[in-house]
Amino acid sequence: MDFNLTNITSNKSASVQHVDVLVIGSGPAGFSAALYAARADLNPVVLTGMELGGQVSLTYAVENYPGFPDGVGGTQLVELFQKQAERFGARIEFDTATEVDLSKRPFRVTAYNGEYLAETLIITTGATPIHLEVPGEVELTGRGVSYCATCDGWFFKDKDVVVVGGGDSALEEGIFLTRYAKSVTIIHRRDTLRAGAILQKRAMDNPKIKFLWNTVVEEIHGEDAVHSLRLKNVTSGEKMDYPTQGVFIFIGHRPNTQIFEGQLDLDEHGYLVTDNLMHTNMPGVYAAGEVADPVFRQVVTSAGMGAAAAMQAILFIQEHAEEQAETPPLAEAKL
Ligand code: NAP
Repeated sequence: MDFNLTNITSNKSASVQHVDVLVIGSGPAGFSAALYAARADLNPVVLTGMELGGQVSLTYAVENYPGFPDGVGGTQLVELFQKQAERFGARIEFDTATEVDLSKRPFRVTAYNGEYLAETLIITTGATPIHLEVPGEVELTGRGVSYCATCDGWFFKDKDVVVVGGGDSALEEGIFLTRYAKSVTIIHRRDTLRAGAILQKRAMDNPKIKFLWNTVVEEIHGEDAVHSLRLKNVTSGEKMDYPTQGVFIFIGHRPNTQIFEGQLDLDEHGYLVTDNLMHTNMPGVYAAGEVADPVFRQVVTSAGMGAAAAMQAILFIQEHAEEQAETPPLAEAKL
């Protein structure tokens, strides 16, 4: 088989495309993997998923990605990633993988608009925000409850809003919200923040931000829009109603691995298990970025993992092509 050849056949319902490298996910890991595979002339296809660029595209400013001393907008960085991968031949498909069959190679991946047979698969499906799971949260999402300050901050001009969480995301997004909101109250379940020192200082120094410590949200109240929260102080047990017009929830993320359950090894939190070469337990299937990284979760580390995964996929394809070239045809072998 020619591993460099992208065969396109079709069945009754949709096209089946045979590709050497299929990347599922379009965050920093996905685009970086596509860039490396494209530069190896493997014509990778990227299935973007529902959110082009993943979580970084929802980030207002990225200040810790090397090469941008003045910071770079999240959306702008994604555009640059995409452009660079496309320049070398990566094909970006605005489609989402819904099913995978990894029982044999080529791996079969079903997406909304077609099917793919992939010699190698690079999984970069990222992670999605964890919900508080309190009454009112689902009903009021999009009506005051949000998981994206960059997307929704503008709607809260001169309003009083709340941010839930004590990590880097909560503080970064809280600081961003002070551009619009009259006040931002950061509600944290402990009295010590998880966020890094620089963000802590910036948030503490911001006159629009205040903190409610040792406090959890028990209910979100409102009919057409959020008007208050039921809060509980976890040390005193005291409860109170807290008026607010917006609740931004940043309490971590869950990896997007549902379609791989039962086919690939996951850890107890649902992250894909890889070795330090980005190999999953299935030869030819690699994982990179937040879907396989509960520790670092940075744009730069995800991009690095994506490059490493692609380098391994390239090696896998080369080795299999060499094996095939060395194996004599069956009839010849029998002589
Ligand atoms: P995170 O670091 O896991 O922090 C989650 C926060 O939410 C913690 O403070 C946690 O409290 C709190 N929390 C978790 N479950 C909760 C619940 N059910 N109710 C109330 N609070 C809850 O998540 P993150 O802030 O999204 O950051 C994820 C990763 O991305 C981190 O590695 C972070 O460094 C990175 N990041 C970096 C930047 C940057 O460098 N500029 C920006 C954003 C994110 P506890 O502290 O009590 O556990």
